[in-house]
Amino acid sequence: MSQDQLSDFRSDTVTRPTPAMRRAMAEADVGDDVFGEDPMVNRLQERIAEILGKEAALFVPSGTMSNVLAVRTLCQPGDELICELNSHIYNYEQSGYAQLCGVAARPVEGARGILRLELLTGLIRPSNAHQPRTRLLCLENTHNRGGGSIQPLDELRRICHWARENHLALHLDGARLFNAVVATGIAAHRWAEPFDTVNICFSKGLGAPVGSAIVASRELIAAAHRHRKVLGGGMRQAGILAAAALYALEHHVDRLGEDHENARRLAEGIASIPKLRLDPEIVETNMVFFQVDPAWGSADQFCQALKQHGVLMMATARQRIRAVTHLDVGPRDVDRALSAMQGVIRTMPPCSVAGVA
Ligand SMILES: *Cc1c(COP(=O)(O)O)cnc(C)c1O
Repeated sequence: MSQDQLSDFRSDTVTRPTPAMRRAMAEADVGDDVFGEDPMVNRLQERIAEILGKEAALFVPSGTMSNVLAVRTLCQPGDELICELNSHIYNYEQSGYAQLCGVAARPVEGARGILRLELLTGLIRPSNAHQPRTRLLCLENTHNRGGGSIQPLDELRRICHWARENHLALHLDGARLFNAVVATGIAAHRWAEPFDTVNICFSKGLGAPVGSAIVASRELIAAAHRHRKVLGGGMRQAGILAAAALYALEHHVDRLGEDHENARRLAEGIASIPKLRLDPEIVETNMVFFQVDPAWGSADQFCQALKQHGVLMMATARQRIRAVTHLDVGPRDVDRALSAMQGVIRTMPPCSVAGVA
């Protein structure tokens, strides 16, 4: 089956640029960004900084680079950062903070990725020669492995206030911040306000092919710019990519609401299928996590069987599956996925023994 015939719910990173986005890319006015001369990159950096209410921004190839630049900019070797146990920065970035920055991590488990102040208050280490220096708090909003969950703004502000009182720097991994913005109606600059640095991904739900931004004060962005260079992140006529990100900011933010609606309908459908259990039942944004009853088989077997129907989802644990809605899956893909899942559940997976597989 070609890409066009598949309903691909594995991730919101699988979107391909729309014809209008491709036109914006083709027509982009470009220059050499290492000389600071790419007009589209400059425009994108100004625009995203303005939306987040910060002074400056830096366009980078990936969210992973953006997160590592934040740690590199805010910490020194021997420092420690606090993050959520299931966060992207802790699990999916090769511990770049350790490899590239000499920084240790102290993970704390939240509920569906959501932290509360009470979980953090004992974690500031005393200042002595034996211990790392507690220096940075990283939050993730929306929280990917938490099921696209939103950190409530009031609690987030309490946590950030506590962090400031304890002289911690603050980084927000806002790879999907615009999903939180659209789901809550709370403006991006309000979510960003307590943080020193924010990561924004254009290549997730916003639908651009490549790119993220780190957004901060002018001073921090100047430091991040220097670190970006040594990571090999200095790009030349990157305006071709920045044009796609600018297009996405203009045209693909409000429509994230459709993804949330599709995710909710998918979740409601899944809840009514025997041997599938929603985990958890709350779907706040564009992610749906659910469990397959081991009596049917494993999550992997389920995804393999779904693939025969042209529907792709991702196993994220032995019994757990993730489905993500985005620009390239609409209501008809949701219908197709639900009937495929019903069909798959009615048949046992090949080579499985009930309860053992
Ligand atoms: C995708 C993602 C990143 C990293 O982005 P890449 O562009 O894949 O490097 C960081 N944080 C979160 C929460 C993400 O989902």
